[in-house]
Amino acid sequence: MTAGPTREALDAARFLSNPSTGKMGYALASEALARGAEVTLISGPTMLAPPPGASLVRVTTADEMFRAALNQAPGVDLVLKAAAVADYRPEERARGKIKKESLRRKALKERGADRAIVLRLLPTPDILEELGRRKKPGQVLVGFAAETGDLESNSMRKLRKKNLDLVVANRIGREGEGFEADTNRALVIDGEGRKIELPLMSKEAMAARILDLVEPLLPQGGAGRPGRRPPGGGPGSP
Ligand code: C5P
Repeated sequence: MTAGPTREALDAARFLSNPSTGKMGYALASEALARGAEVTLISGPTMLAPPPGASLVRVTTADEMFRAALNQAPGVDLVLKAAAVADYRPEERARGKIKKESLRRKALKERGADRAIVLRLLPTPDILEELGRRKKPGQVLVGFAAETGDLESNSMRKLRKKNLDLVVANRIGREGEGFEADTNRALVIDGEGRKIELPLMSKEAMAARILDLVEPLLPQGGAGRPGRRPPGGGPGSP
């Protein structure tokens, strides 16, 4: 499970990021734990307390999340990639805090009267695409898509490009949905292109609905896998 934003530092005091709070990913982690899964939560910086029982890997940058995810992925049945990963990072990271005066001088020297400064960005690795390339037989990969444009066609494209089994798509910029909200509304698309509308609900309720859709895709419908506790305990229970 990945959750939260990543931060890409410009200098010791500034970074590029996004408003992801990690709520959707943390709700998914809690719900998966409640269903008896063993959960590793790879989390970008958030204010949330990790759900008890999850093994937490804290990361800051997309590169760190990439390494952590690739490290964990070979041993898991299910990857839920709810993190809002930065697609670009500054090419250079200044060690100290960049001073305004030094930027002004640089702008003047390089661009004359133009006061703009130029920030060069490099692409970060697409974690989900790489996990899609390395997907083991039987492994289930779920991606998330936050869109302002055509939700359905963009999400469908992501599903195919990243070799996903399911994509959960929501709109950016609508009240009560996506970033920073406690509630969410989503369009889920499965590997056969089937569409399931999930109406506005709490992120906890949505986590349960998403896992209801995911469980039948897991080996043996999610039952009897190592790390999964049968209801009411029994062999394999801790
Ligand atoms: O292509 P886009 O960034 O919209 O896709 C979103 C999905 O891809 C999310 O599940 C997100 O966690 C994942 N992603 C990723 N690595 C990136 C960018 C996005 O894993 N560098």
